[in-house]
Amino acid sequence: MSAQPPAEAPLLEAHGLTKHYRAGGLLGGRQRRTTVKALDGVDLRLRRASTLGLVGESGCGKSTLARLLLALEAPTAGTVLVEGRNLLELPRAELRRRRRDIQLVMQDPYTSLDPRMTAEEIVREPLDIHRDLVPKRDRPARTRELMEMVGLDPGHAHRHPHQFSGGQRQRIGIARALALRPRILVCDEPVSALDVSIQAQVINLLKDLQREFGLSYVLIAHDLAVVRQVADEVAVMYLGRIVEQGDRDTVYGQPAHPYTRALLSAVPDPDPRSRGRGGRIVLDGDPPSPAEPPSGCSFHTRCWKSQDLCAGQRPLLATPEPGRRQAACHFPESVPS
Ligand code: ADP
Ligand code: MG
Repeated sequence: MSAQPPAEAPLLEAHGLTKHYRAGGLLGGRQRRTTVKALDGVDLRLRRASTLGLVGESGCGKSTLARLLLALEAPTAGTVLVEGRNLLELPRAELRRRRRDIQLVMQDPYTSLDPRMTAEEIVREPLDIHRDLVPKRDRPARTRELMEMVGLDPGHAHRHPHQFSGGQRQRIGIARALALRPRILVCDEPVSALDVSIQAQVINLLKDLQREFGLSYVLIAHDLAVVRQVADEVAVMYLGRIVEQGDRDTVYGQPAHPYTRALLSAVPDPDPRSRGRGGRIVLDGDPPSPAEPPSGCSFHTRCWKSQDLCAGQRPLLATPEPGRRQAACHFPESVPS
């Protein structure tokens, strides 16, 4: 028998999570095998009934991280713990039960919903797969209840995805994710495909559901404004690593990592007190390829503060000042105390 983890173990944790993909490519006309370092040693911690926002440019590894947290793929190295227990070491039945606890809401309701199925079938399918959870005779009522929970008209249960609007489709995806009564939703760009006016409605729905059911979210977005609205804590990713993390107000209000500062400088600031503080920082070029990440600090090739040390030595996440935030930078922004 394995020892029981302490009761206060965090709901979800990642330690040194790493994912390398082998990719073949042509270089100078010759076939060459490369390693894409999609994720390169990520530590995370999700607290109960809270939201961890994960931000970073396209290609920095956000969706890879989501797949690893859901145990849809195995990491190259590192571990995912749910309440202190390693998902990959659980016996099958226990893994199946734990998997119900963590569900995925995907970005694009246009491609993630099967067009041949009705809304009712889509929402109900997880119940038909995990048959022991809800008896068959109760599933139609439970399906209607799920549709109502996310603000869908159960009278539309027999419609197909294309007969719904984008926002309604995302609601179908959320109802389906909730079918197994999970405790954690990993939402991978849940509103990126929606019009701005619809985004707010879906965000508000997620907030309401969190309050009602005590859900915890990992909310992935490249849009910092979206994360600001919902996250309690924020992690900023760059090329497969977390470069800064901490509570939302600290990270947004006093970013310590130059990359966080650059990202934030491109977002209109709703707080009039901080408006005009520091101008827009435009980064040169695109992020480097994760197949050939720069040495040392992977941001040093685009950083205006870069010195020799930055190319030579990888900075570890550290706390630059007392407070609830960490940054991986040799020369963090000076933060007023
Ligand atoms: P994000 O979601 O932040 O846009 P991804 O996690 O999708 O980033 O991708 C991170 C990096 O890993 C990208 O360079 C991507 O091309 C690469 N990648 C993702 N999945 C695979 C895969 N199955 N095979 C090879 N490379 C992959
Ligand atoms: Mg993605």
